[in-house]
Amino acid sequence: MPTSMQGELQPAVYRFKLGGFEIATIMDSKVVRDGLHPSFGGERPAAEMQALARANRIDPNRYEHPFIPTVVNTGKELVLFDTGNGALRREREQLRARLPDGRLVERLGEAGYRPADVDVVVITHGHPDHIGGLTENGKPVFSNARYVFGAAEFDFWKRGENVREARKFNRQLFVDIALPLADRARFVKPGDEVAAGIRAVGPAGHSPGLLAYHVESEGRRLLIWADTCIHYVVAVQRPEWQIDVDDDKDKAVATRKRILDMAATDELFVAGFHMPFPGLGLIEKSAGGYRWVPVGYQLNL
Ligand SMILES: [Zn+2]
Repeated sequence: MPTSMQGELQPAVYRFKLGGFEIATIMDSKVVRDGLHPSFGGERPAAEMQALARANRIDPNRYEHPFIPTVVNTGKELVLFDTGNGALRREREQLRARLPDGRLVERLGEAGYRPADVDVVVITHGHPDHIGGLTENGKPVFSNARYVFGAAEFDFWKRGENVREARKFNRQLFVDIALPLADRARFVKPGDEVAAGIRAVGPAGHSPGLLAYHVESEGRRLLIWADTCIHYVVAVQRPEWQIDVDDDKDKAVATRKRILDMAATDELFVAGFHMPFPGLGLIEKSAGGYRWVPVGYQLNL
């Protein structure tokens, strides 16, 4: 008798040790989008994207876009980096077609953590897929948490000046979701430590004050680069190509090159919010650019 098809099944939780820390990357959700061109490299001929995709054996017309928060247990504190899409799709008409339902809370449970266990929520930047899981029905999801925002990023969304047209809705979302959390928040700048062994790094461009985070324990190092690069082939191999969702495109290009060079030179493990699950890799210098090398078993030893 033929066996029925079971449908797609993919892992969504990956937990590993980094020195004395325990870290999990958790796939909140994912979407498949049309493109890559002109969302990526819109200023370049479409044929260049076709060739790049072909050379990397990926589909040039559709791409998977995952959303992967990271949670770090330092042994003293449980620190969550970004919150995924939460209930935005259900609560906000305008995002219905663009974002999937967030499943971070359910999958945190699979990793062994309850929302109430989270001591610190670090928001790398104010875009919807990073702040969406902060609240549900107007209530904080992580009931015991303090918050960390980049000072420049928080200030930008709070003031609401020079917000480009495509981000006007995002600004309102930030006002609704993030501003009310200010009295439980700390505002940091590059170089500041947010927990023992976790320090902010400044990769602005994708948003006005995006922060990445350098995590170090017992000599093992991980860079949580958030949205510095948002596609593992295009943004890494062609960091100079423009990306439509980058708020300051020239600055984002300069930042990508700087952070890619640092990750390659310092041989850092990287956790990328939009990299293929589990969102962990290393950066290798290659002719004229860089390559994303997904982790093998390095973090399992
Ligand atoms: Zn993002």
